[in-house]
Amino acid sequence: MYLFEKDEDSIVKQALLLSINLHSNGNTSFYSNIMELSKSYNLPNFVPNNLDETKISRYKDIMKQKYVTQWRYSVNYTRKLEFYNTFKHCYQISSYLNLTRKTINRKALVKLRVSNHKLIIETGRYNETPHDKRLCPVCDSNEIEHEIHFLCYCPEYFKLRNEFFAQIQSHLHNFQQLTYSDLVIKLMNSEDIYLILRLTNYISLLNNLRDSILSSKNDVT
Ligand SMILES: [Zn+2]
Repeated sequence: MYLFEKDEDSIVKQALLLSINLHSNGNTSFYSNIMELSKSYNLPNFVPNNLDETKISRYKDIMKQKYVTQWRYSVNYTRKLEFYNTFKHCYQISSYLNLTRKTINRKALVKLRVSNHKLIIETGRYNETPHDKRLCPVCDSNEIEHEIHFLCYCPEYFKLRNEFFAQIQSHLHNFQQLTYSDLVIKLMNSEDIYLILRLTNYISLLNNLRDSILSSKNDVT
């Protein structure tokens, strides 16, 4: 709409007219991309030179709606996002993205959330280890090393976990009554900057300790 209102002899208007021309001659141009986009989103009655604020906002809604549907579908059907699926139930910008932009530990939290990490539940996927054989290499519990084992159960991280729980318990309502899965859901969806920072720090400490336990185990064998 903005481009169509430009003067005939302005450079952008000339470029637009050229683009329309290319498109109508069967070439791919900027204008073809717009038309392609409107087709793939199935925008009703889309005519580029006949847009107004109401139509634009309606098209935006349609595009957003389709994007969200697609997002929900891929979250539900991607096995890799199993853990993510346990706590992420609606599409919105997660608070930790805004709140911890400047902290170096944010990376560790992001990686854990989307299962981009070295835990056996994930690496076992690549070498086709059966799900129930993806055991924690750090402790002797014979438990699967998934994200909740890592964060809440693995006995090797007992000390770090106690320190972490001591830091956060007064910030979480009914902390003592929460199950570990509820606790993880609350932490992963928290909007409390203090909790998010403590969590990112905790995950980094766990990663470091895990690395050093495994490397000392490798030295022995
Ligand atoms: Zn363990």
